Amino acid sequence: MSKKDHIDNHKLEAYIMNHYFQGESPGEIDLKVDDLKIEGHLSECDDCAQKAHEMFAELKAVSDWSVYEDNQTLLNLKVYEALKSLEKTVENTGIKHRLTRWVREFKGLAGGTVKVMMDMYVNGKRKTTKMITEGVEKLNVKNSLMFDYGVEMAPTRSGKNEIVVNFNKVKAQNTDTPIKINLDKKKRTLYVEFDADKEKQMPMGILLPSKASGNPLLKEPVYNEVQKKWEILFEDIGEGEYYFMFEPGYTV
Ligand SMILES: [Zn+2]
Repeated sequence: MSKKDHIDNHKLEAYIMNHYFQGESPGEIDLKVDDLKIEGHLSECDDCAQKAHEMFAELKAVSDWSVYEDNQTLLNLKVYEALKSLEKTVENTGIKHRLTRWVREFKGLAGGTVKVMMDMYVNGKRKTTKMITEGVEKLNVKNSLMFDYGVEMAPTRSGKNEIVVNFNKVKAQNTDTPIKINLDKKKRTLYVEFDADKEKQMPMGILLPSKASGNPLLKEPVYNEVQKKWEILFEDIGEGEYYFMFEPGYTV
């Protein structure tokens, strides 16, 4: 590895996890063959050494709070980093305060999470657009919003109507407020509706691309005076995989 080939963030994170957080799983990445190269590079590249130092400080801060488990670790850290970067860039003072609270009190945890696949290839075969509610529990705080798939009647090949699961519609299963999320492939949108009064305060939502290069998108719920409900709408969602997360700490 020459000095020009800086260590990418993913590898550096996993390296730090391996060496400074013994017993904590670094996830899927096996770094052993790279470790010496990384150490060599760190000893001669101030930029990467500085970056490693900052990452370590952040990991340390997170490790005091959150559960480390498998590749959820890196994802949890990614959420934490996304929150901190949003906190820096957001101009609206109210939203900034809410982000600060989210970072301080909940670290990289959310008030409810679903995985979102927008028009992406699965196993290199066919494209799919759907939400997945399973396997994201560890990203959530206690008593977070829990979601389940919508079911509806749909005609089958025989012409009869049958109950089918709709992976593009999920609804909250543990709230007093009906909450629905709808993912639309044609419109490229993710739409959340909260069937709640105007006086109530609803959680914000973050759409976080699972790829390292993507920027997190934050949306505040907006009250729709005509429909009498709160809404969050993400538009022009590009192909790929995302995590959609609700701000934690809300009883809705
Ligand atoms: Zn470097």
